[in-house]
Order: sequence, then structure tokens, then C-alpha cells
Amino acid sequence: MSDTIAAVATGAQVAAIGIIRLSGAAAIAIADRLFRPAAGKSMADYGDRRLVYGRLIDCAGETLDLCLCTISRAPNSYTGEDTAEFQCHGSPTVLRAALEACFACGARQALPGEFTKRAFLNGRMELTAAEAVADLIDAETVESAKNAAAQLSGAIADKTASIYSDLTDISAHYHAVLDYPDEDIEDFRLENYKAQLQAADTALHTLLKSFDRGRHLTAGLPAAIVGRPNAGKSSLLNALLGYERAIVTSVPGTTRDTIEEKVRLGSVLLRLTDTAGIRDTDDTVERLGVERSRLAMERAELVIAVIDGSEEPTGEDLAILRAAEQRPHAVLVISKADLGQERPAPETSLPTVSVSSVTGQGLDELERVVKAMFPLPPVPAGQILTNARQAEAVSRALESIRAARQAMETGCTPDIVLTETETAMAALGELTGSCVREDVTNRIFARFCVGK
Ligand code: GDP
Repeated sequence: MSDTIAAVATGAQVAAIGIIRLSGAAAIAIADRLFRPAAGKSMADYGDRRLVYGRLIDCAGETLDLCLCTISRAPNSYTGEDTAEFQCHGSPTVLRAALEACFACGARQALPGEFTKRAFLNGRMELTAAEAVADLIDAETVESAKNAAAQLSGAIADKTASIYSDLTDISAHYHAVLDYPDEDIEDFRLENYKAQLQAADTALHTLLKSFDRGRHLTAGLPAAIVGRPNAGKSSLLNALLGYERAIVTSVPGTTRDTIEEKVRLGSVLLRLTDTAGIRDTDDTVERLGVERSRLAMERAELVIAVIDGSEEPTGEDLAILRAAEQRPHAVLVISKADLGQERPAPETSLPTVSVSSVTGQGLDELERVVKAMFPLPPVPAGQILTNARQAEAVSRALESIRAARQAMETGCTPDIVLTETETAMAALGELTGSCVREDVTNRIFARFCVGK
């Protein structure tokens, strides 16, 4: 069994409760040493997952806190090792002192994600479930949390397990015929496996397609607010944010730099850039800002073009609108609706919403329009790929399955079909972590927080 790690699992702020976790060979011995159950027994006398009330002490035997302790013995714990948890009052000072006491008893500071990494290495969860732990903690929308929660219960691994099993059947049958020519084994006929390969193709294609939307579920959809100076862009961003982030001013061109914020528009998380006004100018600094705006528009998956509804649209407004119409996803916002001077909206193919950043009028409609542009894939919870590593592995598996099908169709020899089948199996193995390189797992767990 590995060395014993310890960490505060609940962050550094003052809170009602603070938790210290221990995992490894000495976890229960350390709990025994540092915790005195009120009932006078030792922690090791208690069964798994019992919450025991008592005193947490330091190495000198002085009381640090009156709190709860629980232990879980290997292999039935989160990490698969002996574990202990102190549920203390959430004082950073107490937690620090308790952690020092754990170190004095032989534990060492856990690295980011080390508890979950041990859970993975000890077979307590497969890799996509382990990744879902971080996604669940980081989730910024309920939809993203629900998807991660279902992946935590193995939604992706379940989906790919039957494909893997079908591919194993193909491979095993082929090798059995080859290795035991004298045995009475049914001939290996590729056409018997056509249906399985077709089903694998469809399932992997659906999974991969979900990444189109899924990658934005956690990272946010790159979006840009564009419009001429004073159109009301910064005010719109602020209204969406619900707090003042950009400097709102009536002097044109002061939003010279771009500002990026994550904004939740209902179920859609936007990575929203407020740009300097798109307009021709001689001012060098401003021109840099304008250039950035054009780039932001090109990079954005969603463009929100803002035109001041209290004024006649200018040539500049229309130029921006025409540029926005060229983008795959764009919406026109007619701003300052509260001023009651609204002109007819310019002719456009874009969905148009009248908004007031002062009263909030039209923001619900904007949310509805954007949500309709970026619907969640119609798949069960947990089957949206949100992670580039997973998508890349699924893509490789799919490529090999397609190559296998093509080889079959063009009458290639079974060994070619087999090579592709086994490459697909290897890619699926990387997906769930059953065969994945150590540097890859290290990279994955490094993005976790300490204590998870
Ligand atoms: P930007 O240059 O496009 O970012 O425009 P700002 O957001 O800085 O707004 C320019 C001016 O219009 C400021 O004086 C804002 O207070 C005003 N403004 C922006 N949106 C609204 C709105 O919805 N209603 C009203 N009445 N004024 C607005």
C-alpha cells in the first residue's frame, strides 16, 4: 500500500465546516492517534463510515477541536485504500494545525487530484468518471453538472463497454481460428460481424457529435458583442453579468481593450468578449482595439451585434450588421429600448431582439434565441462529451472502425479488418483508462484541486 497523504478538502476560506482527508497505509493509525472518541474507545474499534464525535488533538495531546471523525477501510473507500476524515469547524487556523499534526504523524501533503488518482489507479473508477469529478466541481451551469454527475456514474464507460465487448468478440474469434486450426471452431466470416461494426460506428459517431456542443458546456461558448462606439455593448455585458465589470461611459472609443467574461445565459455558458467599437479611425491605439474586435468576431461562435435603437442606423451600423450576417451564429440586439424612440429594425436575416440594459427588458428573449441556436444534443444525461482528450480517443476509435468497415466492403483479408478493430479497442482503452500512458494520467489529475 502507498504512503499516506493528507489535505484540507474544503478550501482556504472560513466556513461552517472544514474537512481533512487522509488516505494510505497509516490513515487509520493517524486517526487513532489524533482523535479521541467521546465514548472512550479508539477509532479503530469503529466500523466503516460511522460518524464518531470526539476531540481532535495535536501531537502534544492538546485539544484542537471538538468534531467528527470517520474511517473507511481498504478496499471499500473512495481511494480504495484505508482512509480517514476529520470534519472540523471550518477555521483555516484549526485546519492548518490539524494538517500539521497529520504531517507530524507521518502523512505528507497530497498533490492536486491525488485522492482521485489513487481511486483510478486502484480500480475504484475509470478515467472518464475520474475526469467527471473535476468537471462536477468546476460546473458553471446545472446542465454541465448533471452531465458530469451521470459520467461520474460511468455513463461514457457504459456506452463504450458494449462496443469494446463486440470488438473483443471479433478479435477473439479470429485469433481462436488462427491459433487452434484443429479445433472445431466456426469459420471466421467477416460478414457475421458487419452489424456490430455498423452499430459501433453509429454509437461512436453520436458520441463524437455531442462534443460540438459539449466542449462549450464546460469552457463556455466563445461569443463577441460588436457594434459601433456608444451602441450599448458594455451596458449589455454588464446587464448580462448582473454587475459592473466593463467601464460604461458615454465617450466613444474608451472600451479600447477587449474584456472577457463568463456569462450564463440560461443553460448556455458564454465566454463573452466586449470589443472596442468597430469603426474606421486614425487613432493608433484605438485601431489596435478595432483590429482585436474584428478578430474577436472571427473567433466567436456567437456574435451579438448591437445597434442603438434610439438613433437612425448609420452606415457603420449596417456594415457591422452585414459582417455579422456572414457568421454562422449571430443575433442582432436593438439597444436602449427603454428610451421609447425605437426606429424600425434594419432589414436583416438575423434573429432580432429589442433590449434595454437599464430595465432588463428583452434579456429573457435574448436568452431564448441563443438557447435555440445552441441546443443540447438529444442524448441521455452523461453522454455529452465535454473533454478534448475523450473526444480525440473516440475520434480515433471511430476512424479505425470506419477503416475496418471499408476494408470489409472492399473485400480485404480479415487480418486488415482485425488490425483496425484492435486499434479501435486500444483507443477505447485510452478513453476509459484501461490502457493509458502515465504522463497522460498525470496531466489529467494535475488540473484537479488539492484534496480531491
Ligand atoms: P459601448 O460604447 O457600445 O460599450 O456603449 P456603452 O454601454 O458604454 O453605452 C453608451 C451610452 O449609452 C452610455 O451612456 C449608457 O449609459 C447608454 N446606454 C447603454 N445601454 C442603454 C440602455 O439600454 N438604455 C439607456 N437608456 N441607455 C443606455
